Amino acid sequence: MNNKKKEFKEINKVYCEFCDEDIEYDTVIEEETININGIEVTFNKIKDYCVDCHNEVYVEEDNITNVKNANIEYRKKLGLIQVDEINSLLSKYNIGKTTLASLLGWGEITIVRYMEGSTPSKDYSDTLKSLDDPRTMKSLLEKNKEKVTDIAYKKCKKALNQYLDETSIDNCGDTVLENTVSYFLSKDYEVTPLALQKLLYYAQGFYYALRGDYLFREDCEAWVHGPVYTEIYSRYKSFGYDPIKNECIYNLSEEKVSLLDGILKAFGCYNGKILEKFTHSEMPWNKARVGKKDDEPSNEIISKKAIAEYFTNVVEKYNISNVYDIDIYSSTLKDKVL
Ligand SMILES: [Zn+2]
Repeated sequence: MNNKKKEFKEINKVYCEFCDEDIEYDTVIEEETININGIEVTFNKIKDYCVDCHNEVYVEEDNITNVKNANIEYRKKLGLIQVDEINSLLSKYNIGKTTLASLLGWGEITIVRYMEGSTPSKDYSDTLKSLDDPRTMKSLLEKNKEKVTDIAYKKCKKALNQYLDETSIDNCGDTVLENTVSYFLSKDYEVTPLALQKLLYYAQGFYYALRGDYLFREDCEAWVHGPVYTEIYSRYKSFGYDPIKNECIYNLSEEKVSLLDGILKAFGCYNGKILEKFTHSEMPWNKARVGKKDDEPSNEIISKKAIAEYFTNVVEKYNISNVYDIDIYSSTLKDKVL
């Protein structure tokens, strides 16, 4: 945390009301106890001090983190559902906030508020917690299926089937690579064949850099438009430049899913052409393309080792210590290539 701040400090200055100018600041983390609704809550507070006058200064992102961390501790103390746990429910059952609200007969804004940090009542919290059990979720879904869209119902049903061990669901393959594809396609992103290849490549790179192992064993090739996992290319090439429509289910550990969520958060908002510019700006693809003309086909493999080394450097250089910070890198790429 401290290291990360140090690097940001070189770029970011904040306003100090005592010096009346933008200044650099030092960051320390101190345990602090505060009172929330009559409950004493202790959390690790990030504090920022002006390097010139040593008064405390306001850094917005740190303030947001502090409020969040205080809220986490408060909920822990009261046994209330955490924001993360609500997010996990949505992801586990492949539903959105609107669908969950409709199923429960709550206003959507209620769920949104809880996800933004408002504290749910014990009753509401317990109701949400009970949904962690797929059987409870299933009966809620079946009871209220006419309240949600047909697509939402089917997606949720499919997700439930994985937990309830029911058959009659498509499976698009058993390898981690295939399951990774299925996961990317199960989310609400428009993923074209071109974009999918890049997402796979970044998933492999950051999984190695953050988890110390390869996500999948397959190698990619340095094609004209970027890294390509050829068997996946063949499977979806008929979609051309359109988003892939696919109803496969996935089977991946929580730990892999969280990494893939980080990849989607960082790269899912860019289209295939922009992602192509990203990978064209990076060493592994360029190294495998040495001696090739821009439009010259090639089946040269981008070695997993080259990918591993490159992304290990990336996480060090940008102080990326968890999946939520991967977008620090994609934002930098965006500024660089656009
Ligand atoms: Zn100052």
